[in-house]
Amino acid sequence: MKVLILGSGGREHALAWAVKRSEKVTEIVCAPGNGGIAEIARCVPVDLKDLSAMVRVALDEQPELTIVGPELPMSLGIVDALQEHGLRVFGPTRAAAMLESSKGFAKRFLQRHNIPTANYAVCSTAEELEKAVEIFHPPIVVKADGLAAGKGVIICQSRRTAIEAAQGLFSGALLGEAERQVVLEEFLLGDEISFLCLSDGKHVAPLVPAQDHKRIGEGDTGPNTGGMGVYSTDTLLEPGMTEWILRHIAEPTIRGMAEEDTPFTCVLYIGLMMTPRGPQVLEFNARFGDPETQAILMRLESDLVEALEACIDGTLDQIEFRWSQGASACIIASSGGYPGSYKTGFAISGLPAAGRVPSVQVLHSGSARVGNQIVTAGGRVLGVTAAGGSLEEALSHAYQALTEIQFEGIYFRNDIGHRALKRTV
Ligand code: AMP
Repeated sequence: MKVLILGSGGREHALAWAVKRSEKVTEIVCAPGNGGIAEIARCVPVDLKDLSAMVRVALDEQPELTIVGPELPMSLGIVDALQEHGLRVFGPTRAAAMLESSKGFAKRFLQRHNIPTANYAVCSTAEELEKAVEIFHPPIVVKADGLAAGKGVIICQSRRTAIEAAQGLFSGALLGEAERQVVLEEFLLGDEISFLCLSDGKHVAPLVPAQDHKRIGEGDTGPNTGGMGVYSTDTLLEPGMTEWILRHIAEPTIRGMAEEDTPFTCVLYIGLMMTPRGPQVLEFNARFGDPETQAILMRLESDLVEALEACIDGTLDQIEFRWSQGASACIIASSGGYPGSYKTGFAISGLPAAGRVPSVQVLHSGSARVGNQIVTAGGRVLGVTAAGGSLEEALSHAYQALTEIQFEGIYFRNDIGHRALKRTV
């Protein structure tokens, strides 16, 4: 069968790598793809901001399955548009993607369905804001309602700075675009876990848990990024916790969406804070996370395509997932200067040698092929991903592969997994 993947990052490279392992698949097309994806799929150019251009690519290619990677095409309604043309798509409809695209919607939904989450207030005017802020004790979390690529969350140490941050979101001064709604939220303390599950709208199947490192600097310091590394181990969650999260968070979410006539048939990414009063939902994404997907799929031994098709067909309960025991890790190599400004176009060397390190896959986030060279083409450039019998082993494979790779300004964190390693000593 022919599979089309929309997207151009490390998540899409991981998806293409996992799709390629399926015995059912004979051809993979990725639009637009990147320098690494081009080695395992045919890449066709497309602008991910242009809905009709994406539809044209899908109609030309006539794939038997389309997988949508990033949030932008989903928020534009690519899934609905392709379904209208009779194509089979793995992704949320625009209505289902509201769980991600509006934080106000997500918080009200969580409350309606008694799913644990931080106390909050959704405000649309300065008056509402000034009244609501009184009931919160600093630190106060201020969130933009809409998609903000990780830049829409501000942790404020006083009510005054919370009001200023919210005003900055309303006016557009903070994100460039004015927000109609702002969410105020109670500050939660704990370990963050990414809990992803697949759903066919009725049944829920958990993937292995992961923990990511969003900050640029070692020791989790400095500005936020799209993610500098991630790992997945069997011991990230205490025994019985996966079942608890399924019963009290994931299943009620899928049931609630079905009851509200917006069935969720895709991958649900649940960002959780593991607090002393139990897991609390921080956010939902209606797609595979990046770089979580790189680490998670590295551990998947069963057929990804069968599972994604079962989500579309409503038969997810018949799928048996097999995972490798132990751990996986993905370390992001970024361009010098990222997440601030950086230069691109530098030649990347050592990729073949890195790929020969046992159980390593070098997944490309921002690369391009120019002639015979692979060059840097983004802030996050590569996700060096490895599996192992333990986290230490997975990390040691990944870091060994990184010693082979060179490009001007290369930067990566040397402490990925430090929180889990501390727990095991
Ligand atoms: P979100 O986009 O809502 O996941 O927020 C991005 C990041 O902000 C999260 O990964 C957390 O690190 C932090 N954050 C969000 N909400 C809270 C909260 N209520 N308490 C503490 N930290 C938070």
